[in-house]
Amino acid sequence: MPVKNRFAELQSEITEWRRDIHENPEILFETHRTSALVAEKLKEFGCDEIVTGIGRTGVVGVIKGKSNTSGKVIGLRADMDALPIHEATGLDYASKTDGAMHACGHDGHTAMLLGAAKYLSETRNFDGSVVVIFQPAEEGGGGGKEMCDDGMMDRWNIQEVYGMHNWPGKPVGAFGIRAGAFFAATDQFDITLEGFGGHAAMPQKTVDTTVMAAQAVMALQTIASRNADPVDQIVVSVTSFETSSKAFNVIPQSVQLKGTVRTMSAEMRDLAEKRINEICSGVAATFGGSADVTYIRGYPAMVNHEEQTEFAADVARKVSGGCEHAELVMGGEDFAFMLEERPGAYILVGNGDTAAVHHPEYNFNDEAIPAGCSWWAEIVEQRMPAA
Ligand SMILES: [Zn+2]
Ligand SMILES: [Zn+2]
Repeated sequence: MPVKNRFAELQSEITEWRRDIHENPEILFETHRTSALVAEKLKEFGCDEIVTGIGRTGVVGVIKGKSNTSGKVIGLRADMDALPIHEATGLDYASKTDGAMHACGHDGHTAMLLGAAKYLSETRNFDGSVVVIFQPAEEGGGGGKEMCDDGMMDRWNIQEVYGMHNWPGKPVGAFGIRAGAFFAATDQFDITLEGFGGHAAMPQKTVDTTVMAAQAVMALQTIASRNADPVDQIVVSVTSFETSSKAFNVIPQSVQLKGTVRTMSAEMRDLAEKRINEICSGVAATFGGSADVTYIRGYPAMVNHEEQTEFAADVARKVSGGCEHAELVMGGEDFAFMLEERPGAYILVGNGDTAAVHHPEYNFNDEAIPAGCSWWAEIVEQRMPAA
């Protein structure tokens, strides 16, 4: 693999950082130890500026090139947070915290971006500036959005942003990417159907919310099958059905339904929200009850920009000899917020034949480090070639 030789030399050091982070997982915005470690390393590398506390526990580092005639600034982003999962890998560096685990490989992402920062600080073989972005709370907390809301893009005049995620099932160090929508918007709904509870032996005296909710669950399936254009992607999943009474002989007063919606475009997202409201109030009215629908918008769809995606794929080909066209992912990714503010691209790097992300036996593959770090470094050196 024509990876940068320096990363073959640095691999064992970067692996040590990765395993240290793995052993000490932190969830959501609670990445205090990890953020401190990142800031300390960036200082050790000789970064020109290090700022902590962006997006609560996020860290930003600036590395200036040998020259800056281009005036360009590129942002490289990694996520630092772990998941509330109890680790079952049995590794000697497994999580020391019960119920917390790096099950999505953000330990690897952080270590790889630190490796790239070390190399870029040593060599500075580019014309412009690099901003390394370490964000907390990717797993549902919107840490990327908070960093943007703190004015990060304007403060450092970031013009393009790049992100990377490891991908189990893909050969180690192989890359995959696609232009346009890539990861889904992740929304939630919380519906309360209200009826009139009573004795289960006297249904004529009740408005039965269980029957009403069952109809609503079935009718919600028609958003994907009857309302959406068949060529568009949408998932509507009801994941929780809770009656207000658990008794055998009581018709419950209310039923709460919860679930998730995944879409790839603003149009589908709007359609889902509109139809969930219409279906629930319509079904409730049919049975003489009422519906209260809360639709919570989470991460927007993550959309890769055309030009930067092509460039990112070219760099990946140079690093690993290949870059496949990736399939759509119905999971969410809060790098979406950064790509809404600036053009850029997000790439997948193979993690080999490992357990899937978010599984208690998952582990980041340290063999992917040279490819991942090389991709980061080449993005910078090729996008802002030394004058
Ligand atoms: Zn994840
Ligand atoms: Zn992840």
